[in-house]
Amino acid sequence: MKTHVLRVLVCGASGRMGRAVRAEIEASGAFTCAAGVDAKPGPGVEAPDAFEYLLASADAVIDFSSPEAACRYAAACARARKPFVTGTTGFSKQQLAALKAAARRTPVFFSPNMSPAVNLTFALTAFAAKRLSGFDAHVSEAHHAAKRDAPSGTALRYAEHIAAARGGALPPITSVRAGDIVGDHTVLYAGPHERVELTHRAHSRTLFAAGALKAAAWLAGRKPGFYDYFDLLDLKGLLV
Ligand code: NAD
Repeated sequence: MKTHVLRVLVCGASGRMGRAVRAEIEASGAFTCAAGVDAKPGPGVEAPDAFEYLLASADAVIDFSSPEAACRYAAACARARKPFVTGTTGFSKQQLAALKAAARRTPVFFSPNMSPAVNLTFALTAFAAKRLSGFDAHVSEAHHAAKRDAPSGTALRYAEHIAAARGGALPPITSVRAGDIVGDHTVLYAGPHERVELTHRAHSRTLFAAGALKAAAWLAGRKPGFYDYFDLLDLKGLLV
């Protein structure tokens, strides 16, 4: 039986994550790179204004660019009814609203962290926050020196889960930017006489690239909507 190979258009294709996605596509039999676009074009990578033209021969888009660019690409995907996956972080409230507006016309998948394991720890964090209610919560994260946003989108997502579980304000977050750290996150619950730490360390960007491709395969053919890894992994039931 012939299996369908998903043609992926990569946005931010010259960047660290864009290169990792293209390498992962190359290594996989289930995807092919329809094209790449980037503000810094190069071999196999076109300028951003080629996006709509290239979209015609793609089945799905994976974006790791910038919040402004991601919103423009999401709007173009909505017009063309093509599935849009973004792992870009640092969206403002208005930009998130723009992504959700696109999701009314086409399936949009947004996760600040494309690691399935990290998404499981989001649910574990909420579970613990509720039950360790007397404990102080603190989120810390460390990333490479070139990362633009701080705190990371992942740290914010942990903090939002803690705040939602406890019905209060976001806990404090501390950020380190140094060297070539791919991404470390720790959620700390400190009580009297003891503390609990939930830590995830990413060893390689391949993790996020593979997660974004998994999301694209899952998203293709779905109804318009705003999805994340909680939908893909069916984790919503754990948030009780
Ligand atoms: P990077 O700076 O290496 O790459 C970003 C690329 O986007 C650059 O090549 C830049 O030229 C390009 N770009 C800028 N404007 C563009 C436009 N209009 N059109 C197309 N390309 C454009 O950054 P990175 O480390 O690859 O990270 C990219 C984003 O992904 C960041 O927001 C980062 O926080 C996020 N990220 C998310 C995950 C996740 O799992 N969700 C993992 C790692 C990084």
